[in-house]
Amino acid sequence: MGAVKIGLEVHISLNRNIQTKMFCGCRLPTGIEPNTNCCPVCLAHPGAKPVFNKQVLKHALKLALALNCNISRHVIFSRKTYFYPDLPANYQITQYEFPLGVGGSIDLGNGKKVSLKRIHMEEDPAALIHPGGVSDAPFSLIDYNRAGAPLIEVVTEPDMESPDEARLFLKKLLAIVEYLGIYDNATGTMKADANVSVKENSYTRVEVKNISGFREIGAALNYEIVRQKQEGAIQETRGWDAEKQATYPMRTKEGEDDYGYISEPNLPKIEITERMIKEAREGIPELAHSKAKRFMEQYSLPSEDADVLTSEIELSELFEKVAKHIDPLLAAKWLKKELLGILNQTKKSLKDVKLDEKQLIVLLKMFESKKINDRTARELLEKLISKRFDVEKRVKEHNLKAVSGTSELSRFCSEAIQENPKVADDFKQGKEEALNFLVGQVMKKTKGKANAAETKAIIADLLK
Ligand SMILES: [Zn+2]
Repeated sequence: MGAVKIGLEVHISLNRNIQTKMFCGCRLPTGIEPNTNCCPVCLAHPGAKPVFNKQVLKHALKLALALNCNISRHVIFSRKTYFYPDLPANYQITQYEFPLGVGGSIDLGNGKKVSLKRIHMEEDPAALIHPGGVSDAPFSLIDYNRAGAPLIEVVTEPDMESPDEARLFLKKLLAIVEYLGIYDNATGTMKADANVSVKENSYTRVEVKNISGFREIGAALNYEIVRQKQEGAIQETRGWDAEKQATYPMRTKEGEDDYGYISEPNLPKIEITERMIKEAREGIPELAHSKAKRFMEQYSLPSEDADVLTSEIELSELFEKVAKHIDPLLAAKWLKKELLGILNQTKKSLKDVKLDEKQLIVLLKMFESKKINDRTARELLEKLISKRFDVEKRVKEHNLKAVSGTSELSRFCSEAIQENPKVADDFKQGKEEALNFLVGQVMKKTKGKANAAETKAIIADLLK
């Protein structure tokens, strides 16, 4: 058992392929102008009654099945009572005694599986905005646009043993909900509450609330682990202040009893039929894990490449399109190393850049057939990420064609040898690095358009 135990409660907004909020007709996405997308139901006016949006159940069922949960026979909603300005009814409609799914797990791919306790549906409360940070804000603002938006909560066992594992868990979960087409990370949020305990304090459980997204989860958990080791821990609930990058005490921990759960009298019990389960199962596409396996078999990719290329659905689809036209191993290398490298540098995702796939294929084909060298290909790829252009035309217009083929390249190689007789001698004496110098000279002469490997081979041959 590790020295740190972390369990997560992850809230995922359902924001793809869904048109309205969970219990009313207000549209999704919830809109930007505050308090313009709400109605008597999501504002909890007296007498307004909720009607369940069954699309929420369809999405949730797909996720619960994809995570291998045991599915409940019926849906019964409960009221979780607490008093807070983000909750106009003073209760949140959620699932308590009978969650949609129990059990299940997520494979982290590092030899570890994180077990799940449960997965259930609930409504999102309104958004509270604290200008200047939670503890310093002179006032709070409330935006009810988000009130009643559908959420899925995934609760894990305290199986994770480091902030890195928690991040990896979120990454895997993100890939699953994106593959399922129920979540779009560009407009949605994945928020986590984490329970963290350390061995030094006999695993006294501290809950940290309101951690948004990937960057924050590592920071919040690292902060909390250090804090607990230094200060000790009492059983309590703390909040994460992203602006101060610190946790702060909220309340000593209440039990679930304190929420006074009752079943929601305005919503009927819904039976989950075999047919609903079958339909949901049929709607589950090939997920990242199986796709990675297939990539290894079908394209003979190393497992690391297959894992990276399937980590995002868009990237996996792009790979398959490219692999139809060029050697799959070459395609994998260029997407994983060069394309992702450039995207990481510019802190963009594949979704942001709207890459022209046809031109990418043209580019890689030209590289594969040695019409352009790797340096030119990389430079063109960098440009292709920020704008659209015709790759073939650009190569012609800017005279970027590789200097290749023995006759043309040999001439440059001979020149380089004649101009540097001492270096050539050094190589003949067995100094391998002298060869690199000569290749560099040829690169200069060809303005970087020679193929380095080919040049090396020719020079070595000439000096034999
Ligand atoms: Zn509404």
